[in-house]
Amino acid sequence: MSDETKTETVKQDDLCGGLEFNSTSEIEVPTKLIDQVIGQEHAVEVIKKAASQRRHVMMIGTPGTGKSMLAKAMAELLPKEELQDVLIYHNPEDANNPKVRVVPAGKGKQIVNAHKMEAQKNAQLRNLIIVLAMLGILLFAWVYMREQFMWAIIAVLLLLLLLRYVTPKETAITPKLLVSNQGKTTAPFIDGTGAHAGALLGDVRHDPFQSGGLETPSHDRVEAGAIHKSHKGVLFIDEINTLRMESQQHLLTAVQEGKFSITGQSERSSGAMVKTDPVPCDFIMVLAGNLDAMEGMHPALRSRIKGYGYELFMVDSMEDNLENRKKLVRFVAQEVMRDGKIPHFDRGAVMEVIHEAKRRAGRKGHLTLKLRDLGGLVRVAGDIARAEGAQTTTEDHVLKAKRISRSVEQQLADNYLERRKDYRLFKVEGEDVGRVNGLAVIGGDSGIVLPIVAEVTPAMSKSEGHVYATGKLQEIAKEAVQNVSAIIKKFTGHDIASMDVHIQFVGSYEGVEGDSASVSIATAVISALSQIPVDQSVAMTGSLSVRGEVLPIGGATYKIEAAALAGIKTVLIPKSNMGDVLIEDVYKDQIKIIPVTNIGEVLEYALTGKTKQSFVDKIKNFSVDKMGLGIFDK
Ligand code: ADP
Repeated sequence: MSDETKTETVKQDDLCGGLEFNSTSEIEVPTKLIDQVIGQEHAVEVIKKAASQRRHVMMIGTPGTGKSMLAKAMAELLPKEELQDVLIYHNPEDANNPKVRVVPAGKGKQIVNAHKMEAQKNAQLRNLIIVLAMLGILLFAWVYMREQFMWAIIAVLLLLLLLRYVTPKETAITPKLLVSNQGKTTAPFIDGTGAHAGALLGDVRHDPFQSGGLETPSHDRVEAGAIHKSHKGVLFIDEINTLRMESQQHLLTAVQEGKFSITGQSERSSGAMVKTDPVPCDFIMVLAGNLDAMEGMHPALRSRIKGYGYELFMVDSMEDNLENRKKLVRFVAQEVMRDGKIPHFDRGAVMEVIHEAKRRAGRKGHLTLKLRDLGGLVRVAGDIARAEGAQTTTEDHVLKAKRISRSVEQQLADNYLERRKDYRLFKVEGEDVGRVNGLAVIGGDSGIVLPIVAEVTPAMSKSEGHVYATGKLQEIAKEAVQNVSAIIKKFTGHDIASMDVHIQFVGSYEGVEGDSASVSIATAVISALSQIPVDQSVAMTGSLSVRGEVLPIGGATYKIEAAALAGIKTVLIPKSNMGDVLIEDVYKDQIKIIPVTNIGEVLEYALTGKTKQSFVDKIKNFSVDKMGLGIFDK
């Protein structure tokens, strides 16, 4: 084996964490859901503890990191021996107050069946009596007509005797099985996300026929809510802040009491007159949401969890090491197994998925834990393989899937790029004064080229100059200009405070996250002031400190890819972001990535033209003493 192929093999093995396998069919997947959870070790520990102590849990974090999976796993950990059925009975004394009975799991169905059998038997008996009575009457009429009075009397006596002995017993009305846990192998897991009051707390249906023998008995119209169905199990509610305050209040009561009467939820329905005896609802509550969820949460509910439960923060990335890569291999196997229809992944395909996990982490030395999305990629790749009739999913399928399964934001970015190219909103060659190709992200995972144009004029107002900026990025533009005003003064000799600075974000629109535009804004302003043109084949991103340092930004990989796609040749990024860059191979030869640490370096690469060099030299020659900043020391 040549050295080159040897290192290649080692590298490949590394991406799979050193696991030996040809297909994910060889990877063992744990049977318990809790053991399938990846990267949330702290959460797993807490869930195990909370399950054994029956404590409530609140999980906060990014969607798709395994919150509902953990709640489901918790239900699996609860003892199934304790499960119960709940029956609801007609109350002969007060029809509007049905009675509740709790029996061990499986017993409820038996009771209802026994009641049904009894009722059936009675009905049969009743039919028999009717037939016999009619026969008796016929017999009586017949003997009476033949004037055999003696026989007529015997017929009547026989009839009376028959009725006396075979009258059906008065049977109770069949109860309704409200909650059934028959045959359940695990404690219930009920997802109450987005449930309206009735679905959450139980309801009594409206009865259009409220009298005249046509009415449905009230106990039959009672419906269990999620809180009752999750009795002895787990009630999971995601996006807790979307639950109405009133419902949250009721939820709290249910948690405190462990039982909750069911009543009709719509005021004008006949169901509102009905109120059952308290129905048991001894569930473990697992609430979830993102950080803003806590704001919309009832304070008492929150304090209940704080006082009697656990609060958990879900992480959205994990360290990129061999151990964790191995876990991701298992993740692919898990997802294939869960889907059940897609072919297993070969080694190359798994490696591509792990490579994507690195890219999506957007952070140096990390792997993403937004595993719902990554699972989506696995499924799309698997579907492509299946559609092609392939036995295994290969790297090629994953690459195709990546192209197809682009998020709405990514598709929007593509569309945006197309339109901008049509209208030549940005230039990718030549030079221009006061014009810079900035880079921004939309939707967290899609980059776009965001051209910025600056114009500087003497201030209209005598007292002071203003910064005028268009669009949503006004604040950032103002801040960026203020941040660099000291630097601009030193470099250009102009005092920004006495000028009007106009900044335009060409074709910018809602949703553009522009906090990383300050380097581009400063460059555009300096170019406009000094009249030194900017090389249009260069794009840049970075945040600028008051000291002129270029600070790290997010989404470096996506931004660089967007620049390459747009035809940009060189991209300047903060040096501290270099480790985050994981661009696709196809872009590698198309674009040069230059790490920069301060605005001086940015200007050196971005500015062009005859006068550039002397300007840049001037900048470089600023000594620590003169600048008082020390940022341009080599
Ligand atoms: P959330 O509730 O946080 O939005 P889910 O639990 O619904 O996320 O995750 C959706 C799916 O993504 C899961 O069913 C599982 O297939 C996969 N998944 C998400 N997080 C993890 C994880 N930490 N470990 C393993 N699989 C995960």
